[in-house]
Amino acid sequence: LLPTVAIVGRPNVGKSALFNRLVRKRDALVFDTPGGHVTRDYREGLGQLADLSFRLLDTSGLEPTAHPTSLQGRAAALTRGVLQHSHGVLMLLDARQGLVPSDEELLGWLRRHCRAPLLLLANKLDTAAGRNNLDQLQADLAGVGWEPATPISATSGEGMADLYQLLQPLV
Ligand code: GDP
Ligand code: MG
Repeated sequence: LLPTVAIVGRPNVGKSALFNRLVRKRDALVFDTPGGHVTRDYREGLGQLADLSFRLLDTSGLEPTAHPTSLQGRAAALTRGVLQHSHGVLMLLDARQGLVPSDEELLGWLRRHCRAPLLLLANKLDTAAGRNNLDQLQADLAGVGWEPATPISATSGEGMADLYQLLQPLV
């Protein structure tokens, strides 16, 4: 049985881009449900990073826009069904933007409800804005009591060796 890794974060931080980078055999191994995107809480596939293999979940169900009336309900359902059984949770942040209120809301929620190890990743480091604003994001995180995020780029692949070091003990 493969260990499970879940990707969480607000919309547009790059969850699907990271999912697509790590899931090489996506066509064969991503399981589409009959309802398509609208009714799905997450996509899953076989994640691979060097010699690591894991079941990877891209959780759109935690995006507020996906369930405008019932974020807590959907998130709670995901926690029971998925996050609690994950060996690691990758929380994506956008290095260009600092910590925004919906990041803080999700981080607070995860701190209270998610027992799986949480890895904070600062995505989009390939952009000038990402590199320029990374320090602000780290300062924002420190301000609310979190460790610094690990800088990555889901599209260019920067930081994948660091992600490997974080995941290796968990999967
Ligand atoms: P999601 O809503 O969290 O799944 O985010 P997506 O993966 O759909 O990405 C949202 C947008 O950000 C898309 O236009 C992506 O191409 C872009 N994006 C995602 N990751 C990166 C990255 O590492 N660098 C850059 N420059 N753009 C990214
Ligand atoms: Mg997505």
